[in-house]
Amino acid sequence: MLIFKNISKTYQIGSQEVKALENVNFEIHKGEFTVILGPSGSGKSTALNILGGMDRASSGEFLFDNEVITQLTDEKLSEYRRDIVGFVFQFYNLIPSLTALENIGIAAELTDNLAIAENCLEQVGLLHRRKNFPNQMSGGEMQRVSIARALAKKPKLLLCDEPTGALDSATGLKIMEILRFSAENSEVAVVMVTHNEEFAKLAHRIIRLHDGKVSSIEENKTPAELS
Ligand code: ADP
Ligand code: ADP
Repeated sequence: MLIFKNISKTYQIGSQEVKALENVNFEIHKGEFTVILGPSGSGKSTALNILGGMDRASSGEFLFDNEVITQLTDEKLSEYRRDIVGFVFQFYNLIPSLTALENIGIAAELTDNLAIAENCLEQVGLLHRRKNFPNQMSGGEMQRVSIARALAKKPKLLLCDEPTGALDSATGLKIMEILRFSAENSEVAVVMVTHNEEFAKLAHRIIRLHDGKVSSIEENKTPAELS
């Protein structure tokens, strides 16, 4: 389990202080799909960067499986990023000269064991695309490859930064479905940041941010049905 305890993040711009996060408290669970929802400037990216070990909080405590991440040395934090966290980006970040299968194999260092990479592609329903290059796939397909690539590393925390941001509504819903099933069917905590209310309803837990503060946390025992 992951815990944010009174996490604050302050940026200094000249003599000005910007409070990006202020006393943020929440818990995130494995096997669950959590959405951090908020308008632009509410602190979503800052929260995601702290969760992923790319940035450090100014104060407060962040625990993952009882380990105090906020106290790790730079070296240990880098290990945390590499071994514990998987990333999914808005614009996929696939390597254009590699096929779908190769993109997954290279990222997960599975080049000798492509069966695992194939299995990951199958889980996102894209085995038939394994020999396709990114420019031969739709946006939704590329995002599915990028999810498979992230999951192939068997992360304990999968962080998704506006993964539906470049997709139409129906394709975005398909991506939400894959993320939710990934959380439910493996021991990974899936966390997505978005400003999209419609998609957020499909998560197990919604953490709303406003001006750097948590305005509400909703638990959906039975998230809205997927189409
Ligand atoms: P969101 O992802 O919800 O748009 P951010 O976390 O990017 O929100 O930003 C929250 C606040 O922190 C905003 O006021 C933003 O301008 C400020 N901020 C974010 N990153 C930086 C930075 N590197 N330097 C200064 N201010 C920043
Ligand atoms: P190291 O410090 O050991 O060289 P890196 O920080 O370069 O490690 O990368 C560790 C992992 O974190 C990699 O899987 C990388 O993709 C991811 N990562 C690092 N920085 C970012 C970032 N700004 N945004 C998203 N992912 C990142």
